[in-house]
Amino acid sequence: MRTLYSNIKQLIQIENNTDEKKIVKGKEMAILPSIDQAWLLTENGIIVDFGSMNSLSSDLQFDQTYDLTGRLVLPTWCDSHTHLVFSHSREHEFVDRIHGLTYEEIAKRGGGILNSAKRMQEVSEDELYDLSLQRLEEVIALGTGAIEIKSGYGLNTEAEIKMLRVIRRLKECSKIDIKASFLAAHTYPLEYKENHEGYIRLIIDEMLPRITGEGLADYMDVFCEIGFFNVDETDRLLEAGARYGLKPKIHANQLYNSGGVQIGVKHQAISVDHLETMDNEEVNCLLKSNTIPTLLPGAAFFLAMHYQPARKLIDAGLPVALATDFNPGSCPSGNMNFILSLACTQMKMTPEEAINACTINGAAAMEMTSILGSIKRGKKARLIITKPVNGISYLPYAYGSNLIERVVI
Ligand SMILES: [Zn+2]
Repeated sequence: MRTLYSNIKQLIQIENNTDEKKIVKGKEMAILPSIDQAWLLTENGIIVDFGSMNSLSSDLQFDQTYDLTGRLVLPTWCDSHTHLVFSHSREHEFVDRIHGLTYEEIAKRGGGILNSAKRMQEVSEDELYDLSLQRLEEVIALGTGAIEIKSGYGLNTEAEIKMLRVIRRLKECSKIDIKASFLAAHTYPLEYKENHEGYIRLIIDEMLPRITGEGLADYMDVFCEIGFFNVDETDRLLEAGARYGLKPKIHANQLYNSGGVQIGVKHQAISVDHLETMDNEEVNCLLKSNTIPTLLPGAAFFLAMHYQPARKLIDAGLPVALATDFNPGSCPSGNMNFILSLACTQMKMTPEEAINACTINGAAAMEMTSILGSIKRGKKARLIITKPVNGISYLPYAYGSNLIERVVI
């Protein structure tokens, strides 16, 4: 089936080079290549060709056509950091926080991740799958065309495997591309509160061999933070993950300058994520690496914490990726359109920088730039078609409106 989209007001994030664009950094992030008054031809889900309307040949063959007058076309969002597989929402903790409890205080009372873990251990795999599929379909309708999903609410071998099997079923049944990260090192379960060594040995000796034996994970994740997994523990866990072929993507520097960035770079992490707390030392460390700083402003918004220093990173010449962190505790939303607005309003990224961070750089943070992240001949035709709008700045500007007319997967 060949489909022609014509009279596109603006075709955004095009890529003409034959070389694969791997990532955009620093000043390049302000450039968003696009064509005004464009056409786009796809065939069986692949981008075949595109150009400006005055280059459209009258003998071009196609089976169906759509006139997109007034509409923008972009590649779908690539959400490289989520915890979308969970069993229950946690709005009672949300109310606790309104009454003045901090995230750390809630965690100390057995709330937070431990609360989700208890529910995870009780829920059946089928029920967990149904709940997760529903959320996945919701974010696809909001323009997400590729996603990373973490385990980490299991905190014991069986429940971690249950989560990862659900992610595998989503991979098999969903129309979008999914990567799985193994995050048993999310927090210490209650029974290992005073025995950190015991839990680390459980992850290394029991969980890793079983999970990789079943081929359930693409990446190794650790919540590297004071009060969670310290730098030495993270070091050992990432080294063990590497022995089983898992590259790191880690949680770092959310609460403190805890050394997470440095340990991620040491292990050549694909990305270090969160980064609310960054000094020059961390920036310089990232500049000497290929590790992608991934910012999660939805968590800063929901927890009313300070935002990540996107300008400092971009102005230093680094790439930035944006992701939702969709999870029941600190960001109960998988809406990348809202992340786009937060990036512009709270972190002073330009619309062009934010769209680069949500598309090509998000794809890079999941090692998917050969198939997704831009409008390029041969890549998958995963498209966001907007309602009639003035231009790209309107997308982050009108933050409460749903401006997506159709998502093509
Ligand atoms: Zn997270």
